[in-house]
Amino acid sequence: MLQTAVVIDERYEEHETGYGHPERAERVAVLRDLIESLGGAGLIRLEPRPATPDELALVHAEEHLKAVAGTAGGGPQAFDADTPVSSRSYETALLASGGLLALVDEIMAGRADNGFALVRPPGHHAEADRAMGFCLFNNVAIAARSLRERHGLDRVLIVDWDVHHGNGTQHSFAGDRGVLYVSTHQYPFYPGTGGVDEVGVEEGEGFTLNVPLPAGCGDDEFLDAFVRVIDPVCRQFEPQFVLVSAGFDAHLRDPLASMGVSEEGFGCLARVLLRIASEHADGRLAAVLEGGYDLDALRGSVARVLAEMDGERLAETLPATTGECPAVSRVAEVHGRYWDP
Ligand SMILES: [Zn+2]
Repeated sequence: MLQTAVVIDERYEEHETGYGHPERAERVAVLRDLIESLGGAGLIRLEPRPATPDELALVHAEEHLKAVAGTAGGGPQAFDADTPVSSRSYETALLASGGLLALVDEIMAGRADNGFALVRPPGHHAEADRAMGFCLFNNVAIAARSLRERHGLDRVLIVDWDVHHGNGTQHSFAGDRGVLYVSTHQYPFYPGTGGVDEVGVEEGEGFTLNVPLPAGCGDDEFLDAFVRVIDPVCRQFEPQFVLVSAGFDAHLRDPLASMGVSEEGFGCLARVLLRIASEHADGRLAAVLEGGYDLDALRGSVARVLAEMDGERLAETLPATTGECPAVSRVAEVHGRYWDP
């Protein structure tokens, strides 16, 4: 049985986004309740710490760090129409990035096999020089850079199954063949990036793998993408650590998007990635929360992923898909230049 660590803290509820905003404190409140209800259940509880200025600077420009820090203690303001901040948002964002870093360090030290950082605000839309799409600092990108530069790993895999494309993460590693960025997302959709032909640049060409899917896709299409293309490409990459930008807004009940993934479906996607981690990275896998705006769907999906993380289902057969999704076939065609999907 694998040891799973969880990062969650009520301070993640201190970032206030205002009435009616979908990225709200209750998202963490329901997850704290879930973790309490699981009791011990073999989960290691990890205390988050604030990310340091040096860690943030692994990804972000100094002006951006100053801009976010400048909101601390002030009244409500906004970086764009989607991205409001409150007096405690800066500290909360430091704890979000630092929470994932604490988890990654714990796994690298061998004190946990895998884990889930249940943090907010989310991060994958944050660019080096700006906040956007509910995101202030790019938590997963900072963790990937820390693994490369501080832990000395050569190959880090980021899989982003949030329903939106992780533009900030893609841009952080577009020219870096040491980080393979893989994203499944509704397309066309916010933020507009993530086309199949965006494959990375220069040295990093082939190390960005986008799977843009039309609205209406569900478990079948996502699993087709994961089994037929993502799994073989990631195995050829031979990652030493697997990071997961785990958003749950591709869920059938999510109010923001139009996909149909089930809780069981997310569990199957996690199983594919846990197997890759187990076979190539000594099991090392850290998931970080991105989106997911239906509270029941969020709670149920996180529970399902955590249940996979103990490793007992790793050998279980995945459900068969009913056919080949044309959008996935197109990805296989484009990436046939770089990999053997
Ligand atoms: Zn999202």
